[in-house]
Amino acid sequence: MEKYAIIGHPVGHSLSPAMHNAAFAEIGLDADYRAFDVEPGNLESFMEGLAKELNGFNVTVPYKSAVADYLDQLDVGAATAGSVNTVKRMDDGSSQGYSTDGYGLEKALEESFGVKVAGKNFLVLGAGGAARAACFHLLASSAASVSIANRTFNKAEALADELKRQFPIASVEAAPASNSEKLANLVERADVLVQSTSLGLRPDDPSPFPKELLRADMPVFDMIYKRTRLIEDAGKAGALAANGIEMLVHQGAKSFEIWTGKNAPVATMRRVVENALAKMK
Ligand code: NAP
Repeated sequence: MEKYAIIGHPVGHSLSPAMHNAAFAEIGLDADYRAFDVEPGNLESFMEGLAKELNGFNVTVPYKSAVADYLDQLDVGAATAGSVNTVKRMDDGSSQGYSTDGYGLEKALEESFGVKVAGKNFLVLGAGGAARAACFHLLASSAASVSIANRTFNKAEALADELKRQFPIASVEAAPASNSEKLANLVERADVLVQSTSLGLRPDDPSPFPKELLRADMPVFDMIYKRTRLIEDAGKAGALAANGIEMLVHQGAKSFEIWTGKNAPVATMRRVVENALAKMK
């Protein structure tokens, strides 16, 4: 039996085991996928022990950057973004790291809004791991510009500086999320708003974005898996809005394809995720 997993901390509520086990069953692959909660400080012992028994695994918060130190090779997307969410054990026993989050976002934008990334201007809220993977992928996929607004301005600036070094001809800006005047300037040229902060995870969370700046012709993609206040505000402003389910499904589908070399049963994966989320309500 092939063995797969997701590692992170905490990881107990991950939807990936249900999604991947259903996908393996659908293509008739004898494989098992489970979640391993790796306590802070235990990544090295995991990588030198259990990880070597796995055919592949996903990586989530807080190890997407740290895991790279233990891998033999990174594909170009993971190396550029400094983020790994998928590891494959190769036939010779070596380990290769990939980042499929940006691909998941790109597919989600296409399926949810019909938006192609090339030539578009993006306003990204947040400067954490998810924003990082998103921004690097958007620019690598020929986005015209990326602006980053974050609560902690120096994190947005640091990410913008890295992006400018990697993509010298792209247009990249950073702003403090609390500066509405600056946000209004960035919104003027934005074609799409991508929400990648953790604000909205809890039911009473406020929106991370002023509703008066939303526009009917600016689709809003919120990486959180549920109907957030921002999604509600976007709907009231007449804008298209989508939550993070499609991104989760497509980043998972890409991992599946990297591991198995087979097309992922995307419809089954989506159904399992939607059912699991409905049960959590
Ligand atoms: P992270 O690295 O911890 O970053 C969190 C981000 O949220 C930072 O920019 C942080 O700002 C901001 N933030 C946190 N609390 C805030 C608050 N009260 N007010 C304003 N900003 C706040 O987390 P991550 O890995 O980037 O994940 C972020 C979100 O994306 C999570 O909800 C996660 O579930 C989601 N996600 C979804 C997918 C998907 O497939 N749909 C994939 C990856 C992540 P500071 O820098 O100021 O702290």
